[in-house]
Amino acid sequence: MGKSMNDSRIRKKVEKIARKEGGVGIGVRVEGGIVYLDGKIDSRKDFLSLGSSIGKIKHAGGVVNNLEYPGKKKREKKQGKKEKIGEADVVIVGGGVIGCSIARELSHYDLKIILVGKAEDVATGTTKANNGMVHTGIGEKMGTLKQKLCVEGHQMYDDISKELCIPYKKCGMWIITTGDSLAHYKIPSFLANFIAKRVVPFIILRRGKKLGIPMHLVKREELLRQEPHVTEKALAAVYSPTYGITCPYLFTIALAENAIENGVDIMLNTEVVDIDVKDGSVKSVITTEGVIDTHFVVNAAGLYADEIAEMAGAREYTIHPKKGSTLLFDKEYGNYINHSMSALKFPRTEHYKGGGIMLTVDGNIQWGPTVEEVPDRDDTSVTYEEIERIFQGYSYLTPDFPSKTVIAYFAGLRASTFTEDFFIQPSKKVKGFVHVAGIQSPGLAAAPAVADMVINILKNEGLPMNEKQDFNPCRKKPVVFRELGNEEKKKIMEKNSLYGRIVCRCEQVTEGEIVDAIHAPIPALSMDAIKRRTRAGMGRCQGAFCLPRVARILARETGIPLERVVKNIEDSYLFVGKAKCLLEVGNEN
Ligand SMILES: Cc1cc2nc3c(=O)[nH]c(=O)nc-3n(C[C@H](O)[C@H](O)[C@H](O)COP(=O)(O)OP(=O)(O)OC[C@H]3O[C@@H](n4cnc5c(N)ncnc54)[C@H](O)[C@@H]3O)c2cc1C
Repeated sequence: MGKSMNDSRIRKKVEKIARKEGGVGIGVRVEGGIVYLDGKIDSRKDFLSLGSSIGKIKHAGGVVNNLEYPGKKKREKKQGKKEKIGEADVVIVGGGVIGCSIARELSHYDLKIILVGKAEDVATGTTKANNGMVHTGIGEKMGTLKQKLCVEGHQMYDDISKELCIPYKKCGMWIITTGDSLAHYKIPSFLANFIAKRVVPFIILRRGKKLGIPMHLVKREELLRQEPHVTEKALAAVYSPTYGITCPYLFTIALAENAIENGVDIMLNTEVVDIDVKDGSVKSVITTEGVIDTHFVVNAAGLYADEIAEMAGAREYTIHPKKGSTLLFDKEYGNYINHSMSALKFPRTEHYKGGGIMLTVDGNIQWGPTVEEVPDRDDTSVTYEEIERIFQGYSYLTPDFPSKTVIAYFAGLRASTFTEDFFIQPSKKVKGFVHVAGIQSPGLAAAPAVADMVINILKNEGLPMNEKQDFNPCRKKPVVFRELGNEEKKKIMEKNSLYGRIVCRCEQVTEGEIVDAIHAPIPALSMDAIKRRTRAGMGRCQGAFCLPRVARILARETGIPLERVVKNIEDSYLFVGKAKCLLEVGNEN
């Protein structure tokens, strides 16, 4: 079937859906399989439901949903600076796990690469607020690109974690069916139990086999023996031993540092505001700091990927953020379960794995995440209702878990497109522009494979790529004092007495580690940046004890006044002035 034939079929289907869903009178255009919607619609709800229905059309490659509805926010156009600040073979936009994976992979080659990120640090967008699960791919829709790359990425984690010296554990995962798995349906309980106990596990195992994921069936008795706190309502479980956990920000920071060591330039606090295209090819990237000339742009801007594509005249999708909130519990109860787990309930929410009770690589337990469409791409609030929903949803699985031991909650936003799959391909409209968009979950697990795919795209697009002889895949591990044995601790303290001063009591972080973070290849210049690298402030007291101490070290090491120390962004000051207890000489411990 020819392209235009496909387009006209898609268009007919779109018009049918529009008639059915109240989108009469909207403008529909289909070009190369991409559906463009223009006009007005009554509400955001309609905007979402129409976009989602159209996204399901077979052969629809993307949905650009430009429909206006009352209250829709408009993008503010920012001004860039005109002076040239660099030139590069490739500019990567976005310092999340995806941009940094691509930067590190590209640094294998003899190329001038610049990564630009609008935030003050890498790993501050979606990458900061995920659950750190290195999924195997079993939870993804069969046949999707995200499933393929997740399966591949998961298999790459062993090696890449070793090279970058980041924590990675194959903690395993139970996928549990219960007496309530099919409670939604009016079927006799003996039949529902039979399906939950036998049929559902069989289907999962068959999928696993197809994907080459090792998994096996575990009977109820065995599950309860291994996990004594799991609900008595459990009927059976499929065990997935290779399910992994990592630390998403340490991974991203390590990728970025290794990329820098191999020659990549990372420009932070640098927002892309426009892309100059001449004769259908990328010419330069305009940022708030100046202009970078280049012929290749890799768009890994997460929640803002559609806006970056629009700047280049290459928009082929619309991002609609989906919030996910998570509760984090005190490490004291980290041994309550031995593996991560999720309970299956039918019908499943579309494009949502359902969350679960999960381990973190640092020894906490977490519950979540939820899923909710939100209009604002920066809305990482966690509401009372969301917390209630998490308690209701997950306390079921381990009913006697001391759920009042929450130490933190956080939310992240998934960068979903209406086709609900990764969108990784060269632009059909602009030469040199590569989309790496729609990277919702399992983007962390898939990241190494996403980077490989992008390398191949760039090769095919004509970027000359010669492998460097001196590429160094290994990054030196920073000191993590709490992980050392007594002898090692003694030795390191003798070399540098700052490792002998515990600053964060909950997480046993020393002054030496904080100073190292401040002077690292990407200097940690805010409290949150230090927290992500060292865990100072991530423990039970959430920084109540160490915050003023860390702030003092940061001020001392950088020479900035204490009142100017920030939590994260530019003006997020922690202090309004001098307080006696903080600044008295000799009161620093
Ligand atoms: C609640 C939740 C739980 C999740 N759990 C998991 C999980 O357990 N396992 C898993 O595999 N995946 C998980 N994910 C998905 C995973 O977090 C994402 O797929 C991944 O982090 C996406 O990374 P990214 O680099 O594409 O985006 P981001 O991390 O958002 O990075 C994009 C970057 O682009 C920058 N940027 C944007 N606009 C501009 C601009 N104009 N100029 C310059 N820079 C710009 C941003 O500042 C940002 O740093 C989860 C996601 C959520 C929301």
